[in-house]
Amino acid sequence: MRLILLGAPGAGKGTVAKMLTAIDGSVQISTGDILRAAVKAGTELGKKAEAAMKAGELVSDDLIMGIMEERLKEDDCKAGFLLDGFPRTIPQAEALKGLLAKMGIELQGAVNLNVPREVILDRLTTRRTCVDCGAIYNVKSNPPKEEGKCDACGGAVVQRDDETEEAISKRLDVFNEQTAPLVGFYQNEGMLVDIEATSSDVVVDAIKKHVGIA
Ligand code: AMP
Repeated sequence: MRLILLGAPGAGKGTVAKMLTAIDGSVQISTGDILRAAVKAGTELGKKAEAAMKAGELVSDDLIMGIMEERLKEDDCKAGFLLDGFPRTIPQAEALKGLLAKMGIELQGAVNLNVPREVILDRLTTRRTCVDCGAIYNVKSNPPKEEGKCDACGGAVVQRDDETEEAISKRLDVFNEQTAPLVGFYQNEGMLVDIEATSSDVVVDAIKKHVGIA
């Protein structure tokens, strides 16, 4: 599959991407995961991105496009890719369009995961993430078997720095201002697939149908 996953923070992009990778070997490319790994490793990229991330603001388009140009050229992308959290702005979407045209790659769609704001807020404040493998848990609906420890890899399961109430509210404002316009952008491109994302199973089924796997 070669898809963009659009949707607010907490809409379920990461969960759905992980489910889809298991279907056909496509890779999940999460700019948020790449940036968090860079921050953890203390690289130059991490140092440049850290402050904006902590505040719930966006990292610069140039930095993100640099990451994505390199990532999309890697061999594993030949099996397909699911873009999770990218593009996040109109300039990123335009740059991606140029990059893919240059590489001769055609996308199969931009899938918009529609989730009501109250659901998003509840999900983000109760979400927990493994610092090592990125597995996602929820303290209410899907806690790890042992508190604070990842079922998959044993890593620490924590609340992300940008999932305090203040940072979440900022991230949702940034989403509404800068990322929500991408729905119109991809509609104009004739690529939008709009899904009422009531559960990840519903979304995965709709996507399978869209790409002709179901
Ligand atoms: P995420 O895990 O996708 O919610 O991303 C976490 C944070 O990383 C965001 O709040 C931004 O600060 C930064 N980030 C991730 N992807 C992008 C992107 N495509 N453009 C700009 N900033 C990004």
